Amino acid sequence: MKSDLTSAAPPPRERGAIDPYALDRDGLTALFAELGAPAYRARQLHAWLVRGVDDPREMTDLPKDLRDQLAERFAPARPELVAHRVADDGHTHKLLLRYPDGESIETVLMLYPGRATVCISTQAGCAMGCPFCATGQAGFRRQLTAGEVIRQVVLCDAALRSGTIDRDALPADAPDHVTNVVFMGMGEPLANLPATLATVRWLHDPDGFRLSARGITVSTVGLVPGIDKLADVGLPVTLAVSLHAATDELRDELVPINRTHPLAELEDAVRRYRDRTNRRVSIEWCLIGDVNDDAHQADRVAAIAKRLRAHVNVIPMNPTPGVRWKEPSARATSAFVDRIEQRGANVTLRDTRGRDADAACGQLLASYDLGAGTMLPAAIGAADRVDKLLPLTGEPGS
Ligand code: SAH
Ligand code: SF4
Repeated sequence: MKSDLTSAAPPPRERGAIDPYALDRDGLTALFAELGAPAYRARQLHAWLVRGVDDPREMTDLPKDLRDQLAERFAPARPELVAHRVADDGHTHKLLLRYPDGESIETVLMLYPGRATVCISTQAGCAMGCPFCATGQAGFRRQLTAGEVIRQVVLCDAALRSGTIDRDALPADAPDHVTNVVFMGMGEPLANLPATLATVRWLHDPDGFRLSARGITVSTVGLVPGIDKLADVGLPVTLAVSLHAATDELRDELVPINRTHPLAELEDAVRRYRDRTNRRVSIEWCLIGDVNDDAHQADRVAAIAKRLRAHVNVIPMNPTPGVRWKEPSARATSAFVDRIEQRGANVTLRDTRGRDADAACGQLLASYDLGAGTMLPAAIGAADRVDKLLPLTGEPGS
């Protein structure tokens, strides 16, 4: 992908403060009313934004005076592409984007036969502090704006459409546009509700990106109020809940927000979401060697999944710099998956290659910031406490 897609320097004439991608339908209507422009112009503006054009002076179907007025108001918040790593024979594109304030985030484009999925970030860093997660180790830096979140999708879509992604290695049926979006990059989407909800609406909007709600997956650590707010949007967006532990004592350590919203409360919220949207929920399970790969956890998660009619996605942990836990053995992994299946729940094992690891983003920035072997304080504390817990959580899974 060429870096001119992200053109680092904003155009010199900008004096406004509005990132056009952050304007929802209401915001656009208000702006166009203020400028005395008819409402149908908004649709034309959207069409340009969807194509990745954010400089009004290039929007040739708008009248010249309107283009000038918009150029006065807009301050496009364009990131700089500081790294682009290609993996899996061209099927995975990991982008590291940096904003003018110096904060960086990661976006991953994954190409499959018939499907192009973008994994987007909603925050620079994350405050949730899950000790196995590279983003959690770095702590919270700042919220991304709606425009900064949406742009990640537009950037990948424009790259696919313009042919700047080398397609030689790809299957002939790899799409030339984005078909799916997963909120599984850096940050907790439901801890940045304004940007997450605006992005969901924009992605689905017939004047916006026109993506099917089913093609959108929001992954959450389990922020109960946010799950209800997402249901309020009224779109059947897929909800993925990062469970990782099926007992409160272990989940308190692996997913610290469990101390605020324990399993029973989370289960109720997921049930409400499912009932309101009619969508099957996914349970994400990052499988960590000798930590959450035992038979007791398998039995408990199978029971939860059956009660919720949810699907369990097991993802072997990606080794993270600064975290002493390891990915599980192949034997423990298949024993864990088989046991869930035997208990009558739906389960899938994701393979760990970047292209299939939808849920394993957040690692590119970590490899920039941290040297291997650095053990981080939060991870040490959690690892020590989990060591003490383990005898309580049942027989080993292998
Ligand atoms: N904050 C949200 C979304 C971003 S994290 C959430 O936690 O759901 C996306 C997914 O990546 C989560 O399921 C998370 O648990 C998983 N993940 C984090 N670190 C990982 C690692 N080292 N290996 C595998 N999956 C990981
Ligand atoms: Fe944040 Fe998700 Fe990482 Fe937990 S797993 S620290 S919620 S990004």
